[in-house]
Amino acid sequence: MKKNTKEKYQFQSETKQLLHLMIHSLYSNKEIFIRELISNASDAINKMKFNILSNKIHKTNYKEYIRIIINKKEKKIVISDNGIGMTKDEIINNLGMIANSGTKKFLSELPKEHSKINQLIGNFGVGFYSTFIVSQTVIVKTKHIDEQESNYGVLWESQGQGEYFIEKIKKENHGTDVEIYLKETEIEFLEDWKIKSIIKKYSDHISAPIEIQEYNQKNKTFSWIQVNKGKALWKLKKTDITKNEYQEFYKNLTNDIHEPISWMHSTIEGTYEYTYLLYIPSKLTWNILDPENKKSGLKLYIKKIYIMDDVNQFLPNYLRFIKGVLDTNSLPINISREILQNNNITQKIKNTITKKILKFIHQLSLNDDQKYKIFWKEFGLIFKEGIAEDIQNQEIIASLLRFSSIQTNSEQQTLSLETYIQNMHEKQKKIYFLIAENYEAASTSPHLEIFRKNNIDVLLLSERIDEWMMNYLTTFKNKTFQSINKIDQESEKLFYTDQNIKITTKIKTLLHDIEEILKKNIISAQISQRLTESPAILLSDKNSVSSHMLKLFAATGKKIPAIKYTLQINPKHPLIKKIIQITEIKKRKLWIQMLFDQALLSEQGSLKNPNHFIKTINKLLIEQ
Ligand code: ADP
Ligand code: MG
Repeated sequence: MKKNTKEKYQFQSETKQLLHLMIHSLYSNKEIFIRELISNASDAINKMKFNILSNKIHKTNYKEYIRIIINKKEKKIVISDNGIGMTKDEIINNLGMIANSGTKKFLSELPKEHSKINQLIGNFGVGFYSTFIVSQTVIVKTKHIDEQESNYGVLWESQGQGEYFIEKIKKENHGTDVEIYLKETEIEFLEDWKIKSIIKKYSDHISAPIEIQEYNQKNKTFSWIQVNKGKALWKLKKTDITKNEYQEFYKNLTNDIHEPISWMHSTIEGTYEYTYLLYIPSKLTWNILDPENKKSGLKLYIKKIYIMDDVNQFLPNYLRFIKGVLDTNSLPINISREILQNNNITQKIKNTITKKILKFIHQLSLNDDQKYKIFWKEFGLIFKEGIAEDIQNQEIIASLLRFSSIQTNSEQQTLSLETYIQNMHEKQKKIYFLIAENYEAASTSPHLEIFRKNNIDVLLLSERIDEWMMNYLTTFKNKTFQSINKIDQESEKLFYTDQNIKITTKIKTLLHDIEEILKKNIISAQISQRLTESPAILLSDKNSVSSHMLKLFAATGKKIPAIKYTLQINPKHPLIKKIIQITEIKKRKLWIQMLFDQALLSEQGSLKNPNHFIKTINKLLIEQ
């Protein structure tokens, strides 16, 4: 690069898009640009410290700082750090394009509504570009520590539209200065007190000193005044931290604009030493349901030095919605993700933290119904994965599950297994559940009729994960789970004996005919003790897969043999009474086929050949 020549570059198109969005969506919260710039300065300082500690950089007496100068005359704010700095290539990569694939995905999935964009952007690190909300020009002057020997650094300049410029400049020290030339409308940021209060609000916990330049009228001298407390919040005593500080720290850490539901903060001493400050958010973040997303919201610090983000090694997958900080003295500073993965210490810490979190959530469920409802609504779906993932803690996880049921009579899941057991019928031994395509289908299923009649509650499950979960959840407090669409002699005996149905020869003949006609589809035909309103129902064998599972398999393209059902009929139903009267073979066949299709439709929620079913029905209707 020749000296004093400006090179012109174009922003990558995603960057332009992000810039545009940012400027238009975040205007009401524009002060966060200070937080973002300080956070970047602090990251750069941490990188310095990290490299010194792991002997990649040799430097004694490193004294970090973040410094702010307000220049009223030029309507300019300068935020400087003596962190690691950037090379020319780095500055092009870091400020000229969005390298992060998560960000690209985020942009491609943005909703159309403006209010939603606002919320999403709040959930997502807005970063350096937020400076353009308030500035007409931003100049970054930087020099990487590796180029310490040279007299030169790099200047980057942009107006936040389509392009930016790069120029070689003289720069003595490593680190970065960000110069913000404010728009005419934003000069309120030139007030000392304003900047100080923003720093207090967002960046108090940043461990590097944040100093602001003050002019002493009397002595006509400048001096640096430290604004932030400058201590890692999690290292302070609980009693020294206010609720507000905990909340602001959370927002700062996660970029979430919502208050967290609750947090847990503790230091463990003993063989391994660590401190954790963990939060339960009050909103699901946009990417957390993504099954590909293996990230967790945990940041790892070692001896107060930031090491890495998204350390999923310390939390089980089903707790990936938890956000916070883990700081330990028991791991070496230059640890890599791979080593973390197979590390004994990691495993031990993970086990302890998992238990603590579960206990904490359990306390929440006992003490704060309102908050627990929010927790379950937002994270219940993810939390359910724990039943299969964490067999060791299954009992406590199961006790935290919430369900819809006949009794709750609502799609909102509020019933715990403990309450279910307390309300069980005196003769009832098992926990009954039904899995269906959706809540509507579950709550209106004919399988429920006899249970309703006997006043026995049934859990209604209709989320995608439920079938899978129930394969792992077989008992709770010594009670076994029983799917009510499967044949179960024990329950039949318990509840259905009060019905006395006479099995006449006509009924016997009908059962025989049904078995004959539906040979290919069913194992047998029986009289049902369970039905009160429906004419017929299908039950699957104790060991067979359920209809719902079959559908899930079908969706993945796997072929498995069709389920053979048992068809049960309700002889008291007018439709069955009618069929019994029909003697003409052809007609009887049609009716029986229709009866089966109807039961199948109710069981599976759809038919392979709906047109065939409609034709049969139409034929029967015309013949009336
Ligand atoms: P993020 O901090 O989430 O990575 P930003 O948009 O805030 O995103 O910053 C983009 C990148 O620019 C940073 O990752 C970092 O590499 C670089 N950067 C920004 N500010 C500085 C700085 N003061 N010193 C060194 N590098 C910086
Ligand atoms: Mg940043």
